[in-house]
Amino acid sequence: MPLKFPESMDECVYFTRRADGAGKTMCWVFREKCPKCGKALMSKPVDEKKGTVKIRAKEYVCSACGHTEEKEAYEGNLTANIAYTCPKCKHQAETQVPFKRKSVEGVKAIVFNCQKCGERLLVTKKMKAPKNKGEKAEPEIGDDE
Ligand SMILES: [Zn+2]
Ligand SMILES: [Zn+2]
Repeated sequence: MPLKFPESMDECVYFTRRADGAGKTMCWVFREKCPKCGKALMSKPVDEKKGTVKIRAKEYVCSACGHTEEKEAYEGNLTANIAYTCPKCKHQAETQVPFKRKSVEGVKAIVFNCQKCGERLLVTKKMKAPKNKGEKAEPEIGDDE
């Protein structure tokens, strides 16, 4: 079944697009509805003074019933959607893995394997300094810690 692509960043708690030599990865995680009332999508709380979302908040809140969930617990139940081109065998595919970061050689990353050659592929946290200055900045959300 083909993956559903986000129509807007508002649908996602995480979105990134990477290109690394021959490999390409796009990874996104949809927000999900409140597990308590099912009426609204869980989101980060809003700072009422500034009217902006507290992106560094450690919890998610339901705008309909006020139910809150700890960030790690909520995100751990979400699914990471990944569309990739394997840098090793050039296989293009889509896959889904739990939205959990594992430590791989000291880096936190979402880990998945190429469905064709089995190569271990990583979606690491965004590096602070881009390698090439001329590189176009891609929209990216969710790597806010
Ligand atoms: Zn709710
Ligand atoms: Zn491969």
